[in-house]
Amino acid sequence: MSVETLAAEECIDAAAAECEDAGPLLVRTRAEVRAWVAAQRAAGKRVGLVPTMGYLHEGHLSLVDRAHELADVVAMSIFVNPLQFGPTEDLERYPRDLERDLALAAERGTALVFAPSVAEMYPEGEPRVSILPDEEIGGRLDGGSRPGHFRGVLTVVAKLFGIFTPDVAVFGQKDWQQATLIARMAADLDIPVRVEVAPIVREPDGLAMSSRNVYLSPDERRSALALSRALGQVREMYERGERDAAVLRGALWSGISAPGVEPEYAEVVDPRTLGPIGRAGGGTVLAVAARVGKTRLIDNALLPPEA
Ligand code: AMP
Repeated sequence: MSVETLAAEECIDAAAAECEDAGPLLVRTRAEVRAWVAAQRAAGKRVGLVPTMGYLHEGHLSLVDRAHELADVVAMSIFVNPLQFGPTEDLERYPRDLERDLALAAERGTALVFAPSVAEMYPEGEPRVSILPDEEIGGRLDGGSRPGHFRGVLTVVAKLFGIFTPDVAVFGQKDWQQATLIARMAADLDIPVRVEVAPIVREPDGLAMSSRNVYLSPDERRSALALSRALGQVREMYERGERDAAVLRGALWSGISAPGVEPEYAEVVDPRTLGPIGRAGGGTVLAVAARVGKTRLIDNALLPPEA
């Protein structure tokens, strides 16, 4: 599908069926998004937004499916946000393939893809005002491992909320701390959006889908299974009656301490405070992060309600 053949101009101002049939409208500017959203609203449609960094996989597309259940028309953003990458992280080599992404987005009925340049999102360079979670919820786990990461995430998501004013925005449980902070941001700052969190989509062998999985060599790909395997084993310990969070945490850590895997954290935490707990219960989060070769992977599981 060629980007240039999309009926861009006519479709921005028209919530017409033939525009939806033409595949997603690709827009590069905030002004075009605003015009499109205004046309959708004028037609009485609820707007759903799925923010991504692209290189789409089934995990991203499941969020589009969920958004269709909650909104009349679904847009996606594709933006590799420099503000959320640390100086030694993979910003430059992060995988990108817009043509493929557009084809996949089209298959799932995405009406609009917003793929801005860095200059469009940050016209004056680094923003002078940004959004920061407090240390207690933003400084642990991924916030501890990646200083500044959540400032970058929350700031770009707040901008996307400002640009799209979506009725609903869908995020993945895969990045549960991120989703929790975004829901918290919307609540604390009174941003009128429903923040929806959708389940983790996995490969058949259990590996959580991630754009970064393409970095893994075949050997690393096998080693990476330690994360989902450890989560499954600890969940089983819980289901067999173990409630001591320190015991579960120890088992999680030893489960991911596998050949070729360098554990970063293994935690058993309260889903609201994100802090450690003494006793596990329904809704408790098991969260792991590890390096496999040069690739940093995260995964998590929610413990089921107590019987
Ligand atoms: P990313 O492109 O990695 O920034 O992810 C964009 C959105 O897709 C985020 O809300 C992620 O949590 C979500 N996501 C990524 N991987 C998965 C997955 N395996 N299952 C469900 N959602 C995912």
